Amino acid sequence: MNIKQRHSVAVIGAGPAGLFAAQTLAQAGCHVEVFDQKPTPARKFLMAGRGGLNITHSENYQTFITRYSAAQNNLKAALDDFTPSDMRAWCQSHDEETFVGSSGRVFPKSMKASPLLRKWLSALDELGVVFHVRHRWDGWDKDGHLVFTSGESQKTQARDAVLLCLGGASWPSLGSDGAWRNVLTSKNIDVKNFEPSNCGFEIKWSDYFRTKFAGEPLKAISLSIGNSKVMGEMMITDKGIEGGAVYALSSTIRRTINQNNIAHLLIDLRPNMSMDEIQAKLSLPRARHSFSTWLQKSLKLSPLAIALLREENKDVSSASVQDLARLIKSVPLTVLAPFSIDRAISSAGGISLSEIDENYMLKNLSGVFAAGEMLDWEAPTGGYLLQGCFATGKAAAKGILRWLQP
Ligand SMILES: Cc1cc2nc3c(=O)[nH]c(=O)nc-3n(C[C@H](O)[C@H](O)[C@H](O)COP(=O)(O)OP(=O)(O)OC[C@H]3O[C@@H](n4cnc5c(N)ncnc54)[C@H](O)[C@@H]3O)c2cc1C
Repeated sequence: MNIKQRHSVAVIGAGPAGLFAAQTLAQAGCHVEVFDQKPTPARKFLMAGRGGLNITHSENYQTFITRYSAAQNNLKAALDDFTPSDMRAWCQSHDEETFVGSSGRVFPKSMKASPLLRKWLSALDELGVVFHVRHRWDGWDKDGHLVFTSGESQKTQARDAVLLCLGGASWPSLGSDGAWRNVLTSKNIDVKNFEPSNCGFEIKWSDYFRTKFAGEPLKAISLSIGNSKVMGEMMITDKGIEGGAVYALSSTIRRTINQNNIAHLLIDLRPNMSMDEIQAKLSLPRARHSFSTWLQKSLKLSPLAIALLREENKDVSSASVQDLARLIKSVPLTVLAPFSIDRAISSAGGISLSEIDENYMLKNLSGVFAAGEMLDWEAPTGGYLLQGCFATGKAAAKGILRWLQP
């Protein structure tokens, strides 16, 4: 799409959604200025790189799309127009080859965000995108001009269109502090409360268990709540649990706690064995082994897994084979609250999707568009978050171009 007149667009928020939108707009001929309150762009993207930068997922697209809480709304069209294959091609176009990990997750070969970001910023520079860092956006003045706080001075700017890509409210130290919520709610825009997503949860461990096992992973388990079940790994922390399997269920766990003040999870410590198989193993002669050695030898349960059984039932060592097998297949965990949003990988909540039109423009604020995690959608870890941010960034940029066309 090319527009004859050179329109000026302000993109506020230099995370992946904002940068990808800026690239799309600049490629179409717009004059693009990017503002961010932090001294450097894309700090959360760089943080994501510490975990290898899981940029997207390789699973079948029909399954992929079901991972998004809002796939039935505008988000689906955005993802259809920027698919995981497009993401991989985009990385390749910035000299970053990608590979599919054993779980189907896609990573850049460097397993880092910094080389990709360097090349991305240099591509934006070549396109003439101008950056204004240390510029906090505070809203609009009485004439409808943007207001920024930069050092001591307040500046107002006028643009043909404004794209907000201010992120959610997790890891506020990286820039996305959610403070923009007050600005938009004061304009009567429905912004759902932020809640932690892809986060850990509090459990009241005994002192013994916490001291001995905090920091240890419980591998190859299945974790379930109600009808939702995932295979994976979880980490014991001094305050509770976190890790892949927990994140994958985090929205269901959070909703259950919101409703009931508590949530009950079940851990299957041997998901690849049936009850009968476990009972058969436990029915073999125990020799003179202690309870722990017997479980380690017969079922290869780790000391952590065995301590978890004891945490649930102090008298487990005298339980019948049948009761023990049942407990191994479904260790109950009582979860009290999500960990703080300050350390959550993402946040739920944000601008209600009913507030934006098919161009990603706020229905009540003509010329103001929004994309990325600041919109009210959720997805698990696995590359879905970045894919969603890129896709909505592109969709909003294309929406701006359509809206600007005479
Ligand atoms: C530890 C961690 C690991 C992660 N790992 C992965 C992963 O492997 N794969 C994955 O898909 N996702 C991952 N994520 C999530 C992913 O990084 C985010 O979903 C994504 O960065 C959101 O992009 P965004 O552009 O919407 O917002 P952000 O990246 O949050 O960017 C928003 C920008 O807006 C700026 N801003 C906010 N308010 C203002 C204001 N008032 N004025 C000016 N500027 C403002 C901020 O400074 C920030 O730069 C991870 C997140 C964390 C915290």
